[in-house]
Order: sequence, then structure tokens, then C-alpha cells
Amino acid sequence: MPVKGRLREPSVSLLEDAGLGPEAPGERALAFACRDAPVDVLLVRAADIPEYVQDRVVDCGITGIDLVRERGARVRELLRLGYGSCQLEVAVPREASVDRLEDLAGVRVATAYPQLTRQFLPVAVELVDVTGSVELAPRLGLADAIVDLVSSGNTLRTNGLRSLGSLLASEAVLIGRDGRIGSAGSADGADGVGSVGDITSMLRAVVEARSSRYLMLNAPERRIGELCAILGGARAPSVLPLAETGMVAVHALVAAGDVWRLLPRLERAGGSSILVVPVERMVA
Ligand code: AMP
Repeated sequence: MPVKGRLREPSVSLLEDAGLGPEAPGERALAFACRDAPVDVLLVRAADIPEYVQDRVVDCGITGIDLVRERGARVRELLRLGYGSCQLEVAVPREASVDRLEDLAGVRVATAYPQLTRQFLPVAVELVDVTGSVELAPRLGLADAIVDLVSSGNTLRTNGLRSLGSLLASEAVLIGRDGRIGSAGSADGADGVGSVGDITSMLRAVVEARSSRYLMLNAPERRIGELCAILGGARAPSVLPLAETGMVAVHALVAAGDVWRLLPRLERAGGSSILVVPVERMVA
């Protein structure tokens, strides 16, 4: 997992939540054994992780999709992790007289992502390799446009730039070796405790739980149909009898992002004592 930068802290929390926290937490440790699982975690630069996995130095790794694609690493994306979301965007100075990516033919483009820029820009450009502070390149006269990662867009705005479009959507991802995963007796030890298959399942249980809420409410039995229609979803809600005749409790798993829309509708459909609680793990 990443030793520093934007992906470090959310990756540490993900491992903690999945029960893969360090045995002896140490701020500066570059490797640690997990407290409750036979897994060793190495902390290295996010940009080096695709190669480490490809070259079998480690069994799996957490890094950004952008870095995996830029390196052209032969690895398998096992699980999107739901944080570190950003876009690889093309931007030009606010006052530049270009509106479409096609207008960039032949201009100088500063980027730390030369491979993806060449791959996704629809026209040929002159690449200027930079590693940091890419947004400054137009102001310094080094380039006419940039290709860089953007999440809120604030850095672009602060530097007098505007976006022309996105080349790639990225987020943190768990990657594993390309080839067989999950086949019996494979070199990945896919069936053993602490195998890549196990780690993927442990992380997936947390990632899916984070985007879900457990919703509980009481309601008159005669309105169950209406309530279930509002709750929708692939999983049927649980309906439990209450001590009060004619009343039931309805429990359902819902998408976290839907909660604000559901609550008023459930209340109008007779729901009362509505509780929404976080889910710690979710296994299909
Ligand atoms: P670092 O440069 O070490 O902070 O980490 C860079 C990685 O964090 C990138 O490769 C992306 O996968 C991810 N990331 C998420 N949002 C952004 C952003 N706005 N700018 C740069 N990197 C981002």
C-alpha cells in the first residue's frame, strides 16, 4: 500500500476496518505484520506498486487506477476501493482560444502521464515531461496545456486554468497478479488463509458495507406492500412481528446515498421509529 500521499490514510483505515491493522502500529514503519491475519503489508510509493505486483515482489497491492494504466502494468484489477476518486483532465489557461480536445493538435502539453496522454488525446501533441506542480507549466511558458489529476477542480481554478475534458476516471484499486486467481494450488495461495482471494473478500466486505445502511422501522402490517415498493432493491426486506397486534418491524439494507430520499417517503407510508445504522461488513 502507499507509504505517503493521498492514498495512504484512507488505505490504512480500510485495512484497519477489514481487520488487517498493524500488530504494532508505528508511524514510520515501512512494513508491518497484521494483528489478526497472516498477512505482511509493505509501504512503498504508490507509483511503484503496479510493478511490484506485476514482478511478483508482492501478491497484491493498493494503488491508483491512473498509475496502473500509465505504467501499462500487466496486473489484474481485483476490487475498486471507493476512495481516491479523481479524473485525468486536460486543462488550458482560462483565456486560451481552444474549446475542444481536437483544437490541441501540435501544442505543448505538460504532464506526468505521457502514456495516457498519448493514448487518449485524439490529436498528436508535443509532450513536456514534468513530475510536480504541473499546473504552473503554462504560466511558466513551458506548455500551452496540461494533463493532470483533478478531484475538486480547485487547484485548476486557483492557477487560472479551465478543463477541456477528462481522459480517464481513477480511484484506488486493489490489484493482483495477472493470470489465475482462485484456482486451487495456484502460486497466489488463493485458497489459504491470508491469500489474495481472502484479502479481496475481506476488503470487499468493508467497501460494500461503507456504501450501505441498515434501515429499521415499525409500520402497520397492512402497509407492508407500499413500504416494500418504496424500499425496492434486489434483497427482500425482513418483516418481523411486533408485540402490538397489526404492527410489524421492517428491516432492509439500502444504499447510503438513497437514505435522504427514502426517509420522507417511508414516513408518509406509515413508517415510524425509523432507525438508520451503519454496516460494518457485508458479505453477499
Ligand atoms: P500522491 O501523489 O502520492 O498523493 O498520490 C497520488 C495518487 O492519489 C494518484 O495517483 C491518484 O490515484 C490519487 N489521487 C486522488 N485524487 C487526486 C488528486 N486530486 N490529485 C492527485 N492525485 C489524486
